[in-house]
Amino acid sequence: MGITDGVGCIICHDSAQCNPFKPTCGHTFGRSCMQRWMESSGQRNCLTCTRQLTDDEVEQINQIPLSERVVKISIKAIPIFGRTASIYLGGLYAGFASGVVLNGSLNPASVIAIAANTAVFIPVAAIGALGAAADAPIGLVTGAGAAAGACGGVVFNHAVATCGVLNVSGTVVCLGGATIGAALALLAYEARE
Ligand SMILES: [Zn+2]
Ligand SMILES: [Zn+2]
Repeated sequence: MGITDGVGCIICHDSAQCNPFKPTCGHTFGRSCMQRWMESSGQRNCLTCTRQLTDDEVEQINQIPLSERVVKISIKAIPIFGRTASIYLGGLYAGFASGVVLNGSLNPASVIAIAANTAVFIPVAAIGALGAAADAPIGLVTGAGAAAGACGGVVFNHAVATCGVLNVSGTVVCLGGATIGAALALLAYEARE
């Protein structure tokens, strides 16, 4: 769709990408382009007829559709996840590596602990990174992290118990997972720029 049919964005001409918006003057432009223009120029007028936009229209322009928000949050969350991983897993593996150096061998319990921590890490750090990227309340994100960590711990414990490797009390695993989960969610917040 182009500008001639009155549906496309007059700035980038890409109605599919730019989420067209039509104020009362009848001219059409995309929300994304208009947001950028308003931010850079400090002006709030239609680019075609220079009519001032109402507060309501500005608010509607600044409303980003959910799908676009999800993409934006995900893009922001990826580096946060990466930094959380490098801090947490880096420290974890370095700790176990120094244990191996000191003891001369890696005991099976350590191997299970590494695997459990890594298994719990992935969902919880993802929750923390997404929460931090979305500017969600920290209490909500650490709570979700704790819940996910507890579930992750229990699932992992069940898996190793089924294999007959280890059988730790469900409560201990649940609390341990929840603690790691909450701490990791907080770490993800700290890993924001
Ligand atoms: Zn545009
Ligand atoms: Zn206009």
